[in-house]
Amino acid sequence: MADNIFSKIIAKQIPAKIVFEDDRSLAFRDVNPQAPVHILVVPKQDIANVAATGDETLLGHLLTVAAAIARQEGIDSTGYRLVINKGRDAGESVPHLHVHLLGGRALQWPPG
Ligand code: AMP
Repeated sequence: MADNIFSKIIAKQIPAKIVFEDDRSLAFRDVNPQAPVHILVVPKQDIANVAATGDETLLGHLLTVAAAIARQEGIDSTGYRLVINKGRDAGESVPHLHVHLLGGRALQWPPG
């Protein structure tokens, strides 16, 4: 198992506010939310970032899960944003692939 905070959350070694789980993915609330709804969807498999896997089925699954959670959170009709940060210039801070689900307010575009 990789040694990062999300791997520890997946292993249930540290707590998180989990909103969804299945055999391939886990979703939990971001500890420093940037919107009323800010949830991270992660693969259970150790994958460092979006460029570190060619598993199209898994990548599609993460997006499908994010869309289902958006419905569950009641933000499907108002809208939401899915973000995957990769590398320094994007501000990626945890080396385990994660999809941000952001919504519950009007989001600015372009991002900062
Ligand atoms: P990124 O900048 O794309 O790598 O996003 C990492 C995200 O993980 C940030 O939004 C952090 O607030 C969030 N985060 C870091 N530690 C935790 C944690 N223990 N539980 C939930 N979210 C976390």
